Parts: sequence; structure tokens; C-alpha cells
Amino acid sequence: MNILEGKTALITGGSRGIGKAIAIAFAQVGANVAFSDLAYDEQAKALEAELKKTGVKARGYASDASSYMDSENLVNEVVAEFGSIDILVNNAGITRDTLMMRMSEEMWDDVIRVNLKSAFNLTKAAQKYMLKQRQGSIINMASVVGIGGNAGQANYAASKGGMIAFTKSVAQEIGARNIRVNAIAPGFIETEMTARLPEDVKNGWVERIPLKRAGHPEDVANMAIFLASDMSSYITGQVFTVCGGMNK
Ligand code: NAD
Repeated sequence: MNILEGKTALITGGSRGIGKAIAIAFAQVGANVAFSDLAYDEQAKALEAELKKTGVKARGYASDASSYMDSENLVNEVVAEFGSIDILVNNAGITRDTLMMRMSEEMWDDVIRVNLKSAFNLTKAAQKYMLKQRQGSIINMASVVGIGGNAGQANYAASKGGMIAFTKSVAQEIGARNIRVNAIAPGFIETEMTARLPEDVKNGWVERIPLKRAGHPEDVANMAIFLASDMSSYITGQVFTVCGGMNK
């Protein structure tokens, strides 16, 4: 079922993890896929080749999502090359975890800049085109800790809580132009971001998950397909948890 056929998607932080899984899933259901990451490296080139094998148009870009200029240039380049931007996935994100007592100003600023300001940058640049097209779907990658908080992640949780409030606000601004904005709040998903957590912490998370396993990036990608497609055409301003029932 090629439910995204004819649509162009841009995914930030797309070279690995959840972003990569979304890029592959979108291509498999017919979307042309542009993805960005800090570098256009071997990883990005390999993904670009993998996406092209499905028969869609695909290209990786080096672009820092936390930079306003980079983001504007990226969106302009994507539209020039692909002809439109129908789906934007604000996925780029980082962690700089520690207790407040030890958190430096830099750790706070970096996380807010990469996780939250990036969504402003890309949404601002993309909405210009989506407003003209009178259609679009924006998907913001939040987190369950943006809903429930988490000790040791005050910066990260604040950025993700901000992402949720941003989602709801922009949805109210541009809904009348048929542009939808939703957030996905993943729980504990196995990627490089979570690989560095100590084993006992990871086991502790799994214990508390009713489905008794960590999530796979593909679990998040399936929700992204739904939100990107016309199957969700009456859904905007919502937050969807993909967390095995954990509900932090
Ligand atoms: P990851 O670290 O595996 O991948 C993140 C990607 O973003 C990397 O390729 C990285 O290079 C890129 N990136 C970082 N800074 C960037 C920047 N300034 N500009 C462009 N790209 C940049 O992480 P992941 O687990 O795949 O996470 C993806 C998103 O999902 C993040 O927003 C993360 O906060 C969110 N999330 C992840 C989990 C989880 O358990 N893994 C849970 C909830 C939310």
C-alpha cells in the first residue's frame, strides 16, 4: 500500500536510529525522502542508497537543525530539488543527562537548542511552503519524559515538554490551512541514544513496561506513517505515546 506516494518528506537527524527507521518506512510506502544530519558521511550515503533501491527519490543533506540559517537553506534546497515539502519530521535530538546539581549552563543550552529551537527553525521554514500548498503534516519527536518528567533529565524533559506545547500551539495557528501538527512521545526505544545507558537502568525501564520489552525504531516509524498520511487527516495538535504502555 503506497499511502505516501507523491509526497515529499524531510526528516531531521535521519542518518540513524528513529530518524533512519522513519526514512526507510516512508520510502517503503512511496514517499520521496530528504533527510538531514550533522554530516553527510558514510552512514548517510549508505542510507541514501538503501532508500533509492525502493524506487523513490532520496537525498541526504548535511545541515545543523539547531541553526536557523542552515534550516532555511535546507528547506529551500529540498523544495528546489523535490518540488514540494509535504511532510516534516522534527526528529533531531540529543541528551546531556545529569542531575540539576551538576548540570552546566552549556548542557542546558545545547539540549534546548538542538531539541527545541530546531523545531522552530524547520517549522518556520517549511510552513511557508505548506501554507502555499494548503496542505502538510508536521511531526515533532517528543518523549514520554516531556509529559511525566525524569530525574537526571531536566534539560531534555523541558525540551520535550516544550515540543509538545509548540505542537499544540502551531496546530491551532495553521489548521485552517489544512496543515496538521502532531507529536510522537516515544518511551524507551533501542537506539544509539539509549545504548549508552547502564544495563541496570535499561533493565529497570523494561521491568516497568507492560509489554516487557524496549521499543524498536520501527514501532515509532509506524506511528509516523499514520500521522504523515491522509489516514490521519482529521487529527491535529495531539500527542501519541509509543511506549509499550509505560506512560511515564
Ligand atoms: P540517535 O542519537 O540515535 O539519533 C539522533 C540523530 O540526530 C543522530 O543521527 C544525530 O547525528 C542527529 N543530530 C543530533 N544533533 C543534530 C543537529 N543539530 N542537527 C541535525 N541532526 C542532529 O537518537 P534516537 O534515539 O534515534 O532519537 C531520535 C529522536 O527521538 C530524538 O529527538 C530523541 O530525543 C527522541 N526520542 C528517543 C527515545 C529513545 O528511547 N531512543 C525516546 C524518546 C524520544
